[in-house]
Amino acid sequence: MSIQSINPVNGKIIKNYKEHTLKQINKKIGATHDAWLQWQTTSFSERASLLKSASVLLIKRKEKLAALMAIEMGKPIKDGIAEIEKCASVCDYYADNGEEFLKDELIKTEASKSYVSFRPLGPVLAVMPWNFPYWQLFRFLAPALMAGNCGLLKHASNVSGCALSIEQIIRDAGFPENIFQVLLINSKVVKEVIAHPFIKAVTLTGSTEAGIQVAQQAAQLLKKSVLELGGSDPYIVLEDADLEQAADICAQSRLINNGQSCIAAKRFIVVKGVEKEFVRLFKAKMEARKTGDPFDERTNLGPMSRLDLRDELHLQVQENIKAGAKCILGGQIPNFKGRHAFYTPTILTGIKKGMPAYQEEIFGPVALVISAMNTDDAIRIANDTPFGLGAAVFTKDGSLGEQIAKTKLNAGSCFVNSFVKSDPRLPFGGINQSGYGRELGVFGIREFVNIKTVYIK
Ligand code: NDP
Repeated sequence: MSIQSINPVNGKIIKNYKEHTLKQINKKIGATHDAWLQWQTTSFSERASLLKSASVLLIKRKEKLAALMAIEMGKPIKDGIAEIEKCASVCDYYADNGEEFLKDELIKTEASKSYVSFRPLGPVLAVMPWNFPYWQLFRFLAPALMAGNCGLLKHASNVSGCALSIEQIIRDAGFPENIFQVLLINSKVVKEVIAHPFIKAVTLTGSTEAGIQVAQQAAQLLKKSVLELGGSDPYIVLEDADLEQAADICAQSRLINNGQSCIAAKRFIVVKGVEKEFVRLFKAKMEARKTGDPFDERTNLGPMSRLDLRDELHLQVQENIKAGAKCILGGQIPNFKGRHAFYTPTILTGIKKGMPAYQEEIFGPVALVISAMNTDDAIRIANDTPFGLGAAVFTKDGSLGEQIAKTKLNAGSCFVNSFVKSDPRLPFGGINQSGYGRELGVFGIREFVNIKTVYIK
């Protein structure tokens, strides 16, 4: 059996990768476990210095890695380069701060000495998606390696080239052999990997359905899991918002990675009094984005990453129009040459409870506008979702914005007058159907450790 990488610009097969057999998988897991036995004894400074080398290599190779993303999943070159730079920054961040985050914490008791020590767990399986093929992995791998764990990667089937290039970077950076390995496997085989006794935990970024499957498999074996799943992030525009600025930020966020981002803005909940003007400004911003060849520097939006996902998105758009939504921009598959996966920016207004888009995640360049009577109504609609990843509110009243972000919106990350973004220094993750656990910051590096109590009488 083989795994195919297909160029979403034209549907052409880039490469076939041979799937690993069960025997090869077990051998790889065994080798990573053996590597871990030694790795767990290394000092923080050794680990930090290797992470710094990985960071340098990422920067050196950024053009080449961005080109690989462009052909495997359609990301425009300049966005690809920015993604690789961010990966380098997360390696540097944990190299600089990991030791501090994991230093022993003395706790006063009646003992002569008692403290908490953060010990590594062992090999962790990462099941990762195609939308940010490098960033999703590095934000797991950098803290994992710094904590003394090892990693095995099952990457999305359309980005095997990116997966193998990460393995190469880790090797070339000088990490010990087998510290990090790629498993070229179908998602059906993931449960066999989770069941292997040497696999101590699993992290998955992807759809809620995949997350539920993996969480069940891990829970049955009492293995820890972290899940970073989908979202339908609400962006609330209040009556006193700077509409020009809000429209600009909302369009930027909706179109991050061509709308294929868990934390892209998806629902725009606008208070009635400013809806008409906001929609006018927002439409102009969405329209201004140039869709085209990801290798062209002028391109803002490449194709979507897979043809089947584009077709699914178009179907979602059509279903919502049938259910009463109004399409004021896009909504058509562009008439480009070949078997492409392009979709141009689309806006659906008049979204109401009962329409599929009110509850579903829309993973592509399609914005949903929902009318709210007033501020309270907007907050109610924002929270009326099964998800809870990110949210944003736009208002000139800073303290009202902060109060809404802190106390009213039910999501893992709530931003005021800004789009939701991940940052190595800040924890990232969701609640409800958006998953559990946190990545990044001090919380991220403490997810896959044994928080060990040491007590000396
Ligand atoms: P999936 O969730 O199916 O894929 C993400 C990763 O999980 C891939 O490596 C995939 O492998 C693997 N996977 C899928 N099903 C299972 C399973 N049952 N057990 C173990 N691993 C599994 O995403 P899709 O690519 O199908 O995209 C579908 C939707 O998922 C999107 O439209 C979007 O809503 C959401 N999504 C969310 C992302 C996020 O950042 N939170 C990222 C990507 C998608 P394989 O590729 O081999 O199937």
